Amino acid sequence: MRFYNATAFLFPKHYEWRILCICFGAVHLPLIAYVGLQAATGHWDVTTLLTLLAATLVGTGLGLAAIRALLSPIAEATQMLRSVQDGEPIAKIPRGADDLVGRLLGGVATAANESAARIKRLVDAAERDPLTGIRNRRGFTDSAREILLGHQTAVLALIDIDHFKLINDQFDHEAGDVVLKTVAGRLESELRRTDLSARWGGEEFAVLLPDTMLDEARMIMERLRASVALDRTLDEQGWPVTFSCGLASIRDFAQFDEVIRQADAALYGAKNGGRNRVHVSAAE
Ligand code: GH3
Ligand code: MG
Ligand code: MG
Repeated sequence: MRFYNATAFLFPKHYEWRILCICFGAVHLPLIAYVGLQAATGHWDVTTLLTLLAATLVGTGLGLAAIRALLSPIAEATQMLRSVQDGEPIAKIPRGADDLVGRLLGGVATAANESAARIKRLVDAAERDPLTGIRNRRGFTDSAREILLGHQTAVLALIDIDHFKLINDQFDHEAGDVVLKTVAGRLESELRRTDLSARWGGEEFAVLLPDTMLDEARMIMERLRASVALDRTLDEQGWPVTFSCGLASIRDFAQFDEVIRQADAALYGAKNGGRNRVHVSAAE
């Protein structure tokens, strides 16, 4: 590093020019000696001198191009590290030979890949609910923000399992957990691929139905409600699992908190109306 730092004043931003400059000095000693000899004897052979100078210029150009090409793996490695810093995926991992630069490139590629995988695992852990494996509240909010950036009409649904405390009390907490996992699985498998579902907390789930009108959303959630209520695998020893649902439409992420309140009020109405039903917000 000492020589590297000591020569940094030569082309501080162009490492390849620095290498070329040092090579240039080293390999042109014969030319310099030849010019010195002619100067000392006072006998100038202009043709030989011009030929040597022209060859030197061509050699310098070719040398610079070759050095730049040979250093391209370092440029690739720098680009990979920048992608990791920016949180972007690494598009293509270049392969180097089994030499110093190739090993450096391989090391950077491995480190970049591992960092990217670790970042993904951390983001997943922060945005997934460990029990059900679906998004948690934070993951839902982040994804909803992205979807609603397009300002499309969407519908937000809040779902709450009915009398869930009784299921826990009547059977046990593990049985309650199985119900939560099964309902989460049903949300993921029965809703459309573009719909977003999450465990909002406890026995509550949230769903965002993008590009959907309220009537259509009501039909979709009604169908889901009926299929869960009729599902015998969810039936805990003659105890059917049902949920209540509140719906409200949303056009902009700025309305998110307000629309959550509206959907929650509609859910409250569904509970008061006897549970196992879908209610639309009174604000619609
Ligand atoms: P309602 O029909 O009015 O919604 O009644 P409920 O019994 O479903 O509502 P309540 O809020 O009284 O009870 C929710 C229960 O959910 C209480 C809590 O112990 C349980 N619960 C919350 N998180 C979990 C969990 O991760 N696993 C299990 N098994 N139970 C949970
Ligand atoms: Mg609840
Ligand atoms: Mg409940």
